[in-house]
Amino acid sequence: MGIDIRYAWAGLALLAAACTPVPPPPAGIATPVAAAACRTPSVTIAFDFPGAPPHACAITGERAFELLVAPEHAPPINPSPWYAFRYDARGGAPVSVTLRYIESGHRYAPKLSTGNAWRDLPVTVSRDGKSAQLALPPGDGLVAAQELVTPGDAATALANWSKVSGATIFPIGLSHDHQAIGAIRLGRPDAPRLVILLGRQHPPEVTGAIAMEAFVDALAERADTLGDVQVLVVPMLNPDGTARGHWRANRGAVDLNRDWGEFTQPETRAVKTWLDALPAGVRPVLMIDFHSTGRNLFYVQGDEASPAQQRFLAQWLGGKENTFANYPFTIEPRNANPGSGTAKNWFHATYAIPSYTYEVADTADRAATREAARALAQSMLGVLASAPE
Ligand SMILES: [Zn+2]
Repeated sequence: MGIDIRYAWAGLALLAAACTPVPPPPAGIATPVAAAACRTPSVTIAFDFPGAPPHACAITGERAFELLVAPEHAPPINPSPWYAFRYDARGGAPVSVTLRYIESGHRYAPKLSTGNAWRDLPVTVSRDGKSAQLALPPGDGLVAAQELVTPGDAATALANWSKVSGATIFPIGLSHDHQAIGAIRLGRPDAPRLVILLGRQHPPEVTGAIAMEAFVDALAERADTLGDVQVLVVPMLNPDGTARGHWRANRGAVDLNRDWGEFTQPETRAVKTWLDALPAGVRPVLMIDFHSTGRNLFYVQGDEASPAQQRFLAQWLGGKENTFANYPFTIEPRNANPGSGTAKNWFHATYAIPSYTYEVADTADRAATREAARALAQSMLGVLASAPE
């Protein structure tokens, strides 16, 4: 029998204090970032891996738990209610976990990994969206709002791009938590036209990271044919927020995609410093910033786009909205959030270049996302090659 839920919440602090250390995380899980855990004699719920926020946890039965899904700082904050935990359940019965959302409602369909692959978990969402109940199969696994793509995974992607292209990985700076912000430059360092690709300003936006990886895969394979184009790739701009399971901010409690212009944060400043040190013959010609939202779209310049920028957009994305199987997208030509410090606006204002936000739906078909991203990377190179300046 479960214990009374009101009592359990009232006793939350006591429960947290009573939590005992858990065994080391299973192989393949890197440095713990949080040590809190909830455990009963047969079940452990833990938050000791990169990507897991330190959820407050209440034990409501021998095999029943409630987790608070709460943002990393006080509102206002974007409603991206991220959650992630691992569990280890002895015995044959399922484990019930209820997610209780603070400052948001249910958004992300839960995923389960018991090995290398992620699959959707059945979920029952309350009518008001403020809670969601999961039934976990016995055994052990990772549960998260989206597939985990951690700073370690970004480092692995960089290593793969380096292997494929022969290009060198380098840090462009350090985060608040002193994590390296890794980057790679594809093409010749003196190639005059620079494309900038940014990823993961916002920690929960995993589908954008999936698209970015496939996009850069396609570029890395062609690194020796880039000619007068070079590409700076920074796949993980917010390693601290990602490792800590944030909804939005970095470790400095700042939305990095509102900091372009002010550059108050080490992560955005790292990119700015790198750009400021470019040799005189190299100039940015295009910036793409990968994100996730409710549907597939590109935020692009509206009336503020020059004729050359409009031409680039028409050649690259125009007419392709419905050409990718299972990856329809829209083009949103507008100056959203003017003056608010987005990378899109800053790059356009500073360098007078096409500057786009590449938004992938939370629920986008993953294979279709990758396929479209690869094709769009190839066609981007084609457009750049056909319009040398
Ligand atoms: Zn975003």
